[in-house]
This record gives sequence, structure tokens and C-alpha cells, in this order.
Amino acid sequence: MTERTLSIIKPDAVSKGLAGRILGEIEQSGLRIVALRMLRLDRRQAEGFYAVHQERPFFRDLVEFMCSGPAIVAVLEGEKAIERYRALMGATDPAKADEGTLRKKYAANVQNNAVHGSDGPDTARSEVAYFFSAVDIVA
Ligand code: ATP
Ligand code: MG
Repeated sequence: MTERTLSIIKPDAVSKGLAGRILGEIEQSGLRIVALRMLRLDRRQAEGFYAVHQERPFFRDLVEFMCSGPAIVAVLEGEKAIERYRALMGATDPAKADEGTLRKKYAANVQNNAVHGSDGPDTARSEVAYFFSAVDIVA
């Protein structure tokens, strides 16, 4: 079944000049980029995006980090895109991520972990809609 998932290249990876390489690896994996935009999140937008984590001790730092510089948001499409992109990213904490994954290669630590990917069909739908409207996504 063809799915869509939301990817974010987080500010740490963009500021290190890793965006091109990460987009290249996404393409090489066979996922199609069907929407793409650079933006700088403001506090309200970052808080809204990570609202499920608002009670967590790391929430304030996470919001600060996500607002710290430009990020790249993209919609990826393909067979089992959600699961495949999670596998390409690796574990949240790069120290626990498998060899060859984006986080193993490009993430500094559990917060500054280079990339985001939706974790299920419902979150994928709401996260895609958080940044893109239907006309932004190529057919
Ligand atoms: P994402 O939602 O960004 O794809 P994830 O699903 O792997 O990552 P979540 O548990 O949803 O991980 O956490 C969201 C984000 O919050 C992480 O990607 C990371 O930037 C930050 N984070 C998670 N756990 C911690 C922690 N223990 N300390 C600091 N930051 C954390
Ligand atoms: Mg998550």
C-alpha cells in the first residue's frame, strides 16, 4: 500500500550542511519526495508540532532546538513509506541506532538527532497537513 510520511531535516543537520546528503539518501532508498520546503519554525509552530511531548522533561529544550535555525520539511511517498523511513532514520538516540542509518551517521545526540519521521498512519496524516496543503503535493 502506498503511504505518505512527513520528514523533517532538523536544524542541526541543515546547519552542518547535511541536507543534500540526507535528501540523496532518501531518494536512493526508493522513497519519492512529493513535497519539499525550507522554513524556520517559530515557538508556537514547534510547540504545536511536538504537543504530544509537552509533559516530557525535554520539551522546552526540544522546542528551542527545533526553532534554532532553518529546517527542511518534506513529504515522502512509497510502499510502506512510514516504516521504511523510520528504518532509514534509525533509533531516536544515535548511540543506539544501527550502522548505516541517518541518525547513526549524522546525529550528534538524542535531541539533536538530524531527522524526524512520522511514527504511524494517523500521525503521518496530521503531520503532513501541519505543513502542506493538498495543492503543495505533486501527484
Ligand atoms: P521524531 O518524532 O523526531 O521522529 P522519534 O519518534 O524517534 O523522533 P520521539 O520519542 O517522538 O522520538 O521524540 C521526539 C524528539 O524529541 C526526538 O526526535 C528528539 O529530538 C527529542 N527527544 C526524545 N527523547 C529525548 C530525550 N530523552 N532527551 C532529549 N531529547 C529527546
Ligand atoms: Mg516521534
